[in-house]
Amino acid sequence: MREHGLDKDSVLQNIEDHLAKDAAWNKVLNSICTEPLAIGKEAFIRSIDTNLGDVRIFRGSSELEHKAVRLLASLLGGGDSPGNIVSGGTEANVLALLAAKKRRPDIASPEIIIPETAHFSLFKAIHLMGLQYRIAKVDSRFKADPASIEALINDNTVAILATAGTSELGSVDPIEAIAQVALRHRVYLHVDAATGGFIIPFARKLGMDLPAFDFTLEGVCSITVDPHKYGLAPIPAGGILFRDRHIQQLVSVDSYFMGIPGHMTMLGTRNGAGAAAAYAVMEHLGLSGYMEITERNFELTRYLVRQLKDRGLRLPLEPELNIVLFEMDGAAQFLRYCEERGWIVSVSKRFPDAVRIVIQRHVTHGMINQFLSLLDRFVED
Ligand code: PLP
Repeated sequence: MREHGLDKDSVLQNIEDHLAKDAAWNKVLNSICTEPLAIGKEAFIRSIDTNLGDVRIFRGSSELEHKAVRLLASLLGGGDSPGNIVSGGTEANVLALLAAKKRRPDIASPEIIIPETAHFSLFKAIHLMGLQYRIAKVDSRFKADPASIEALINDNTVAILATAGTSELGSVDPIEAIAQVALRHRVYLHVDAATGGFIIPFARKLGMDLPAFDFTLEGVCSITVDPHKYGLAPIPAGGILFRDRHIQQLVSVDSYFMGIPGHMTMLGTRNGAGAAAAYAVMEHLGLSGYMEITERNFELTRYLVRQLKDRGLRLPLEPELNIVLFEMDGAAQFLRYCEERGWIVSVSKRFPDAVRIVIQRHVTHGMINQFLSLLDRFVED
């Protein structure tokens, strides 16, 4: 550390210099997160010096978190489902597995059934909690196979995990069939809808053929849903919802101070800005706002697919959400070619010969056309 501090302008200039190296959103084609809505940024800044770890001081901020949770619950058929705004999908998934584990104190070596396509954050949770796990098979569209899940259930099973919208491939597991399995065997079911939770409800309202995945399905015990992804709120804003208070209580840890309710999140001291911003964005957009954005994202997805197919490129999977994979010779080389020109795409390790594109709110027709020109030039060279 310096002996004497640097003046404010120099410090801020240093920060600007570093921020200038970040990719510009208008060249980002791989991100499940996006530039947040302006109202979200404003709410975030206004709430920046809050701490939801102390609800006696930050009573109003805590009310905002509560309101944000109520909005999430209403989106997910949750009625009065309780929950919290947390740091992201990872924390939400950790909390869900904690609840599942604590629900069965009678099981000495708890096991989780996890489809091979589940997000790696769930493996962090599994390792943190010293859980055993069994990998369930997926079908040709990379959706979890309910029969494979059922075959893996045994006396040590404490939870089944399923995903409503994998961020790698955009696959939605057949949650309804999996919920039936969970109910039959009285096993906890957690649905990771970190990505799909802010797409599928609106797409279904638009008449698209996507399956139910939420609390309307008996058997679903908890859901991860992230405002900081397709919810268009600033990072950090993840969401964890539980079916009822009994399940949520399982993650509660008493504070040693009087008048402070039990802590239900992994973080103790935690900023309230994410919750306030998530509330602001959801209140501001409402259902119609999200539906409009969702419709546009799907239109752009279809446009990109048509353009790729017109070029004779093969898609290993038809997109279910707003993630498009296309095969090409030298996909990894193309990734570097893009990066050298400021464009960010990704290549999934599962499909090393395919480029993965994510359509988010910041992606426009113009961006896709520029990207396609880049692709054409790469192929010609
Ligand atoms: N679950 C899914 C399905 C995700 O797509 C992600 C991240 O992309 C996560 C969990 C982890 O969320 P976060 O990165 O916000 O912790």
